[in-house]
Parts: sequence; C-alpha cells; structure tokens
Amino acid sequence: VEHYNSYRSYIKKRFGQEVLKVPLSGGFSCPNRDGMKSHTGCLFCDNRSFSPAALKIESPVNQLRAIISKTSHRYSAFIPYLQPFSNTYGTVEQLKAVYEPLLEIPDVVGIAIGTRPDCFSNAIYDYLYDLSKRTYLSIELGLQSGHNITLKRCNRGHTVEEFSSAIKRLAQMSIETVAHVMLGLPGECTDMMIKTAQYIASVPVSGVKIHQLMIISGTEFELMYNEGLLNLFTIEEYADILCQFIENLRPDQLIHRIMADSKPDFGLIAPLWSANKSASINVIHRIMNTAGCKQGIKQA
Ligand code: SF4
Repeated sequence: VEHYNSYRSYIKKRFGQEVLKVPLSGGFSCPNRDGMKSHTGCLFCDNRSFSPAALKIESPVNQLRAIISKTSHRYSAFIPYLQPFSNTYGTVEQLKAVYEPLLEIPDVVGIAIGTRPDCFSNAIYDYLYDLSKRTYLSIELGLQSGHNITLKRCNRGHTVEEFSSAIKRLAQMSIETVAHVMLGLPGECTDMMIKTAQYIASVPVSGVKIHQLMIISGTEFELMYNEGLLNLFTIEEYADILCQFIENLRPDQLIHRIMADSKPDFGLIAPLWSANKSASINVIHRIMNTAGCKQGIKQA
C-alpha cells in the first residue's frame, strides 16, 4: 500500500530512470550565523560545519565529479543538491558562479537548492525563473514549524509569513519547492505539529521533507538536552505523529523524506534509532500499515 506520494517515484517517472541526488557544499554562508540576523544560528545548527576545515572545501564541481565517478556504474542521471547553509545568500553573480558550472557536467538533469525564506531578492527570483526554464529546478526552504512562537524559540530568525511569501512567489513562476519540517521541537504538542501540516497544505508548496528532532553534539540543543529540557520521540511515537502529519497534507504534495538519519560518528547523541535508517523506516511503515495511514485523508 502506498501511504504517501513519494518524491522518489515522482522523479523516477519524470526522468524515466533512477536519479541520484548529490549533496554538495556551495560555499555560501547563512544570515543567521554571520551576524546579519544573529551569530547564534538555529538552536539545532551544527557548529562544526562552521569550522575552518569545513570552509576549505573542494569546488562544488569537483565534489560532484568525484561522486559521479564513484556511482556512474549505477546511475546515469544526477541532480546536484546544494545543501548546507543558505545557497541563495549572495548576489546573482555569486549564485551563477556556483550553479551554472554544475549544469554543464554531462548527465546532470537539474539542480536542487537549499536555502532560507529570507534569502531572496527580485533579482534572485528573476534568475531562478530563468534557470527553471532551462533545467529541472527544486528550491528547498527551511520552515521547521508553522508556528512563529516555535521559530522564535529555536532562533530561526524568520517568520512563517516570510516562508508563505517566498513559496507563493516561487509557485507563481511554477518553480518546484520543498518545505523542511522538524517534528518534536521544544514547546510543540501534537496539535501544533498537525497545524503545521495543515498550514503546509494551505500554501502552494510542492513537497515536504519531514525530520524528527535529533540532538547533535556541539549544538545549543545539546545543552538543553543535557539540562533535561528536551523530550525526544521513541520511534513508535514519531511514527504515530508522522502518520497524522501526512494525513493532513494535500494528496499532491511530494514526500521527500520521512525521517532524518545520522550516526554517533557524525555527532548524533539521540535518539539512537536515527542511526539505523532502514530498520527505523521498516518500523514506520509497519505502523503506517496498522494505522491505515493515507496521505491527505484528513484534508477538509
Ligand atoms: S538556517 Fe541552516 S545554516 Fe543557518 S543557522 Fe539555521 S540551521 Fe544553521
């Protein structure tokens, strides 16, 4: 039984083959870290990614070429995904210098760009429109919660309204979008998380990436967790809320991810079920089967 409208199936159908999405560092910064909005960043932001070592990265083109050469026996289509930080935080010229060379690599069929709702200008929207006419384009925006009180508590440095307006502007240009959401943020009850799903269903966002709250070492959340201020989901609790969340989305919205994963070697502290992705996905699917979970059935 298909419980939800999976992005993976959509992309396979759209391109007629499996496509590998390749996470890359674009070398951009973030206004919530560089002092424009704050120096603290989101409370879940992994500080180690701001270390000088992380800044000395290979060019995005070299990062992509290395992955293509390792995986070309299995894949012949690739989507570079500019993931960390805010990849529209710069001038159009700076964005072009990073994006355009990636599109020239053979077998690249599009580009996915992760960013924040407050990192756009008219010139950037115009450029993204132009880009979308030339290739497959997906813009991924961090939202995390549909509640301003939670965004404030997590020091996100933007509002739900800014997310709505960026999504509407991108939708007017028929650009595909994704909302990143975290379930289990401090101060949120089940009802608030469901309301976030209902909010997402009410705006023209094409897809959703859903993550459980994880504690990563070096983050502000680690300190709060050590003080006993954060409650984490068991896999069963998470699956239950995830089902309700998905049921409240629109049936057409693409589900990119139903959980996040990490490893203790990469700083994961808790919950440890996050380290075993395939076993955890199996548990989630079993609970979805039992619950008869179906995307969109709670839509009014
Ligand atoms: S928007 Fe992303 S990069 Fe910026 S502070 Fe938040 S988590 Fe860190």
